[in-house]
Amino acid sequence: MRLLMVEDEADLAGAVADHLRAASHAVDLAATLEDAMAAARTTAYALILLDLRLPDGDGLALLRSLRDRGDATPVLIVTARDRITERIAGLDAGADDYLVKPYHLDEMLARVIAILRRVDGNRTPERRFGALRLLPAAARVELGGAHVALTRKEWAVLDRLSRRPDLTVSRAELEDTVYAFGEEVESNAIEVHVSRLRAKLGRGAIETVRGFGYRMGRA
Ligand code: CA
Repeated sequence: MRLLMVEDEADLAGAVADHLRAASHAVDLAATLEDAMAAARTTAYALILLDLRLPDGDGLALLRSLRDRGDATPVLIVTARDRITERIAGLDAGADDYLVKPYHLDEMLARVIAILRRVDGNRTPERRFGALRLLPAAARVELGGAHVALTRKEWAVLDRLSRRPDLTVSRAELEDTVYAFGEEVESNAIEVHVSRLRAKLGRGAIETVRGFGYRMGRA
């Protein structure tokens, strides 16, 4: 999914972003409150990781501005260990969860996945579509019990479609989900990913909804 990482410590931001990218997420970085506000206004993120102590202000200002305009984008706040009042203020302001620095990258990823699952209303850690089984925590796909190797982008397309299989997702929405700022996107990139997914998973795995986009099918 497309995520925004708001963090002014460059080393930490880079390590977290690399970990999220390795799990097939597209990650945009913002090192200031101003950049984070601008990114959140222009892009629909699946989740925002929000550091509270930013060089130009308090990360809570971003959370409050989202909630004030009725934007329910999940927010995972990140605070230092000794700042209990900040965590409470964050949860009170509408954060979905918090993480205490220093944290383990695997725990961060597990919390991100758990929040996304809650937002989707999915209580189980897997998704099934006929013979197809998706395990989002591991970015793993099985067809008839056998592992299918996907590229990160292929996984990202399938992840987005399968999160809400009742919805049709446009090509533009898929592009926004799969590619972060600054990544080069060929004009037919999504069609190529979809056609490779169909080759690997069966033609029926993804349906084309003419004039609208794509929808999850059944393998
Ligand atoms: Ca900071």
